[in-house]
Amino acid sequence: MIQKQQIQRPQLVLVVDDFEINRDILGMILEDDYEVAYAADGKEALDFMRAHVHDLSIVLLDLIMPVMTGFEVLETVREDELLSAIPIIVLTAEKSAELTALQLGAADFITKPFDVHEVILARVSRIIELSEGRQLISSAETDRLTGLYTRNFFFEYANRLFTYHPERHRDAIVVDVEQFHTINALNGRDFGDKVLRCIGDSIKSCLEHVEGIAARIEDDCFDIYCTAQDDYAKMLACLQEKVNGLSPFVSIHLRMGVMPWHEGVEPIVMFDRARAACNMARGNFQYPLKVFNSNMLDRELLNQRLLNDLQAARNERQLRVVYQPKYDIQCSPPRLASAEALIRWWHPDLGMISPGDFIPLLEGNGLIGVIDAFVWQEAARQVAEWREIYGIDLPVSVNLSRTDVFDPTLVERLMHLIEDNGIDYKSIKLEVTESACTDNAAQMLDVIARLRDAGFQIEMDDFGSGYSSLNMLSDMPIDVLKMDMRFVRNIEHNATDRRLVTLILDIAKYLEVKVIAEGVETEGQLDLLRDGGCDLVQGFYFSRPLPPEEFEELIKRELAIERN
Ligand code: C2E
Ligand code: MG
Ligand code: MG
Repeated sequence: MIQKQQIQRPQLVLVVDDFEINRDILGMILEDDYEVAYAADGKEALDFMRAHVHDLSIVLLDLIMPVMTGFEVLETVREDELLSAIPIIVLTAEKSAELTALQLGAADFITKPFDVHEVILARVSRIIELSEGRQLISSAETDRLTGLYTRNFFFEYANRLFTYHPERHRDAIVVDVEQFHTINALNGRDFGDKVLRCIGDSIKSCLEHVEGIAARIEDDCFDIYCTAQDDYAKMLACLQEKVNGLSPFVSIHLRMGVMPWHEGVEPIVMFDRARAACNMARGNFQYPLKVFNSNMLDRELLNQRLLNDLQAARNERQLRVVYQPKYDIQCSPPRLASAEALIRWWHPDLGMISPGDFIPLLEGNGLIGVIDAFVWQEAARQVAEWREIYGIDLPVSVNLSRTDVFDPTLVERLMHLIEDNGIDYKSIKLEVTESACTDNAAQMLDVIARLRDAGFQIEMDDFGSGYSSLNMLSDMPIDVLKMDMRFVRNIEHNATDRRLVTLILDIAKYLEVKVIAEGVETEGQLDLLRDGGCDLVQGFYFSRPLPPEEFEELIKRELAIERN
């Protein structure tokens, strides 16, 4: 402690009194512990305070002085945001002045003639300590950029409101900026900050009419806890209008999620739900406001349950891989060419859960890697087994999630898989969904190139569902395009879809890659695709995804045809 005092600069104290003798006495008392500066009237004092606003710890202020009185100083300081952070102790001989001084914002008073030295020192040091503590709290309490509460304080206050005034119905509201990182990247951080400040200010003005509190929770995410409102669309429109005014060149879209008051639901849960609703509004520029409803609650509960049950699912072999055949349709009769491995979850209570219900959830939680690794391992083992039993090399495609691509050990792991199972690199094909390619084109390009160098073939899944450009496509070193099934669905009855399918087949020809049509259910669809030059087909017309033992029947049938 002693050491600390020696290296730290002493705190700065300003003594303001028109009588030199008073300045001398106080200086003498304080000098050993503080650096002391002096002023002889209010004006001098204010000048000094403005010049040292960040390093002045306290002011001892006489009230009756020429030029400018202590009262006038107190009044000026009270109006000034920066100066008002400096605590002031008033020096007074008059009991009656004490109350006025305290009302004007003085922190304490010292009576003249001066008290015992120790008492004065104790008062000065206590007020400095209190003020520093208060400043520390206020900097942790409010967000520097917007002046709204920070996350922890917000929830602290929200919990108090919830606990002490449970009779008041308060809603939870979350406001977010669409693609804020893009706004930052394209227009600079200063502009991004301007957007956030504008939202902060608009929320504050909303709260002038509505009772509530608000926080910037992180980056571009704002939480508001306020008395239940009838018209949130109006609130959102009001916030949106303010940000629209920021720049004619940048379009900024806000979205809002609301969790209406519900008896007994704590703020933290209320805001989880409001956030879930807000996430549902993501990208929906037409309807950027979502109110949490029971469907979302059901979905949330189901998600929670699935996440909880995932470990058991793995241990108890509830996860199984099914195989859907892909047929080469350019030969007659069509020939079994390969298969796609697809995951299924047989839940003991919920029955069969389709991947559409849990894959996106696991992708969002970073858990999908575990499932994918399981499917890859299972597929590689199966390929080896079928080769062993039937003497055939039937390639199986596995799906790669977008998050797998960020795993630096991906290529190595897949190579091990091939080596460990003693199969060929061409036997495991990799399906990468189109949107993953467009989202991270550069990274994808690199990973795909390395996978192909290792000997793997790449199939672009769900092609046509995203927004890939011809440019990106011609750069992306893929082997097969898998046409999204929505093109195939109406091909028999819709001329536009037929033309689109022809266009995709032309693109594939230009890129010199094969095309697989997914979701083929009828003979009519099959005929049109075959006549258009499509190479392979996958769909219910030939077979649904099958468990391995049923898939083996297809293999046996194929082998029988070959023998004849
Ligand atoms: P996908 O990779 O595009 O798989 C094709 C989906 O189309 C499969 O749905 C399949 O059952 C379905 N399908 C096939 N033929 C037809 C048809 O004729 N009509 C209709 N209506 N549907 C057909 P599934 O198995 O429900 O899988 C959905 C998606 O879940 C897959 O789309 C894939 O993106 C993902 N998925 C499935 N298994 C895995 C996995 O092991 N790992 C990862 N990462 N994703 C998987
Ligand atoms: Mg697929
Ligand atoms: Mg697909």
